[in-house]
Amino acid sequence: RERDRQHAVTGPGRTADGHPIPLLRNIGGATDLAGDTTDIEGVGLLRTEFLFLHRTDPPTTDEQQRAYTEVFAALPGRKIVVRTLDAGADKPLPFLGLAPEDNPALGVRGLRTARQRPDVLADQLRAISKAAAATGADVWLMAPMVATAAEAASFAEQARAAGLSTVGAMIEVPAAALRARQLLEVVDFVSIGTNDLGQYTLAADRTNGALADLLDPWQPALLELIATCADAGKVEGKPVGVCGEAAGDPLLALVLTGMGVTSLSMSGPNVAPVRATLAAHTRGECEHLARLALAAPDAATARSAVAAQALSG
Ligand code: PEP
Ligand code: MG
Repeated sequence: RERDRQHAVTGPGRTADGHPIPLLRNIGGATDLAGDTTDIEGVGLLRTEFLFLHRTDPPTTDEQQRAYTEVFAALPGRKIVVRTLDAGADKPLPFLGLAPEDNPALGVRGLRTARQRPDVLADQLRAISKAAAATGADVWLMAPMVATAAEAASFAEQARAAGLSTVGAMIEVPAAALRARQLLEVVDFVSIGTNDLGQYTLAADRTNGALADLLDPWQPALLELIATCADAGKVEGKPVGVCGEAAGDPLLALVLTGMGVTSLSMSGPNVAPVRATLAAHTRGECEHLARLALAAPDAATARSAVAAQALSG
């Protein structure tokens, strides 16, 4: 019966009272878009690492442009959020020539690699901009691992100079979440990467299975930081998305919607259950569930409180 219900709900993401919450896709290249794309509202996270991994030289601007064009052309007119190279830490790239580090997760990764290799970011921006212009795609650009508003401002300046008009920052570092308002003063949108934001908030390596309880996306500290970002979006009147795994959990999607998050991006299989659950609840009910989750003393209590109310709602 659950499957029937999921298949019965189609079209764009929205609450029972018609409040739109675009349900976007996390993808790692054009191959993730194979098949029928009519039901895809857009891409909320294009991980561009696929172009750079397993190589000894960086891809040329032309090669990158071709790859981006393939993705953009697959979703005409739809929003595509492109994340610039997120190298370092668990994704080392030999050709960047970065020094080995004792704590790579706290080291030169994400946007920080551009401090040492500004040429790699400049090439990438040029390629994305050309592909966007050639396809007329609605391209939103964002940087990973932004810690300060100054970093966001300098990234935005560089991206706009390269011809990209909608520029944002990922919020994956607690410092950035706490300063979401200041970030949103200098960029057009933010997108919360809950995988890394959870890791850095709880100081728990996201690849360490023994710490799974700390990495639970229902952790109160993580929920509170997400709510801070959503509030900042309301004040600044700018979009606040979530593109970490949390967005693909139907119950958490209700909570995020209730906090005021404006779009959710997830892997393909999560879209149908999230869409069906969202369609069964009004925005007011989502707000109530968000208050319940934020008031809970721990992750398990938050989840069970929301599960109990959502099922009866
Ligand atoms: C995240 O950190 O939540 C995220 C979406 O980025 P990635 O999982 O690629 O680090
Ligand atoms: Mg991340």
